[in-house]
Amino acid sequence: MHELSIATSILKTSENEVQKINGKNVTEIFLEIGKISGVEIPSLEFVWEQCMKNSVLDGAKVHIAEPEGYARCAECNHEFKISKIYDSCERCGSPFKEIITGQEMKIKKLIIC
Ligand SMILES: [Zn+2]
Repeated sequence: MHELSIATSILKTSENEVQKINGKNVTEIFLEIGKISGVEIPSLEFVWEQCMKNSVLDGAKVHIAEPEGYARCAECNHEFKISKIYDSCERCGSPFKEIITGQEMKIKKLIIC
């Protein structure tokens, strides 16, 4: 269960942040999960509630941004949108590329009270 370990690590980071400022709870959390990060958001939501029960994130409002996948071709420098990590350059067909966005998996902001 990949998503469960993600939820656990989000919780760990949040706990640290709450502790740092002597807060009580997280009221809102803003996540960034790229479209090609491989994270299934419905699965994450599925494990979320159980995982966050009685934690600093219990009852927190969750906002999830899903940046599109973009890559830059290593051969022709063309920037293009990708929906899968294995997509080739749409201009020259090269499979070699640098992923620019879409693989994010991070906490962007926490609102702590
Ligand atoms: Zn190319």
